[in-house]
Amino acid sequence: MKILVTGGMGYIGSHTCVELLAQGHEVVVLDNLSNAKPSVRQRIERIAERAVEFVQADIRDRAALRAVFAQHRIDAVIHFAGLKVVNESVSQPLAYYDNNVTGSLALFECMAEAGVKRLVFSSSASIYGDAEVVPVREDAPLSALTPYGRSKLMVEDMLRDLGRSDPAWSVALLRYFNPAGAHESGLIGEEPGGVPNNLLPYIAQVAHGQLACLNVYGGDYATPDGTGVRDYIHVVDLALGHVATLEHLAKAATPPGVRAYNLGTGRGNSVLEMVRAFEQASGRPVPYRIVARRDGDIVTSYADTTLAERELGWKAERGIAQMCADAWRWQHTPKE
Ligand code: NAD
Ligand code: UDP
Repeated sequence: MKILVTGGMGYIGSHTCVELLAQGHEVVVLDNLSNAKPSVRQRIERIAERAVEFVQADIRDRAALRAVFAQHRIDAVIHFAGLKVVNESVSQPLAYYDNNVTGSLALFECMAEAGVKRLVFSSSASIYGDAEVVPVREDAPLSALTPYGRSKLMVEDMLRDLGRSDPAWSVALLRYFNPAGAHESGLIGEEPGGVPNNLLPYIAQVAHGQLACLNVYGGDYATPDGTGVRDYIHVVDLALGHVATLEHLAKAATPPGVRAYNLGTGRGNSVLEMVRAFEQASGRPVPYRIVARRDGDIVTSYADTTLAERELGWKAERGIAQMCADAWRWQHTPKE
């Protein structure tokens, strides 16, 4: 298949391009490089030993989107492009609604015009809010706690409405839990600008000596060691989940409509378990101190992955030891 990957130069997108190319698919990346470096393209090509078509454009630019659909016979779209920093969305809600919602709307309109109705959308487990039941199933109540989460929920709603209006659409809403780690080559990974907000990049910078100490947000939660529990999923497993999803959509005899799938491991790990796993992988100490809970944090979140296993035939295989080892290798990669 020839796949248009929006946001394909970013963290999850770049790993997905590598796995798509490895499976023999062709890839056209559209990215405005607002959160990625141009050199990622060469790095993807180096790992995959294949060429990647790249268009530097914004998903809100309908003319650019139309040109891509006119130039290439696209079989499906994987839509990663968007802004993703949860606390930034609280201070800049309009930027988030514009990029994530208006941008998605422009993309879906141009897909419809071009007759391309197969889509994989990057959703997020944050739309489960503070789920009452864990492991979380796809039919759990949806609610967003931040503008970022709401932008994802709005796009999911848009796609559910679209699917109801036209049964020719095949859409998978992939709700990622906590992506972490990097490609084992050390060539691609997550590059947060400034001080990281997410746990693993923060820990990696502490182990590396760039940051002095990890602030553990809360040590008195109702969890085995008092710290928050999340479902950390290796980014390569996540990338493989996208390939499996596309293949599932493509082989369906009739368009399967709009379906949501959790992409996680089904296991939860605490902050302190992640600290210990990273210390082991890196051989370096990760000093930490317990501080106050972070506003808006939930206690425990991990996925029920039964649906993805059953319908997509996909299951995460990599554990936290490998995630930490790969993140540590990436931490040492020279970045220009
Ligand atoms: P990322 O920032 O590394 O990648 C996003 C890419 O999209 C970047 O390369 C950026 O330059 C590009 N982009 C942003 N706005 C654009 C626009 N308007 N037009 C064109 N390109 C644009 O983020 P990521 O971690 O790879 O996340 C990918 C997707 O997965 C996002 O939609 C994110 O919300 C979602 N997601 C991420 C996580 C996570 O923890 N990383 C969790 C759940 C969901
Ligand atoms: N966390 C922490 N210190 C940090 C960053 C995160 O203790 O500097 C904790 C956070 O409270 C949560 C877990 O690590 O329990 C994962 O946080 P992250 O922001 O990576 O993901 P999210 O909360 O969005 O699931």
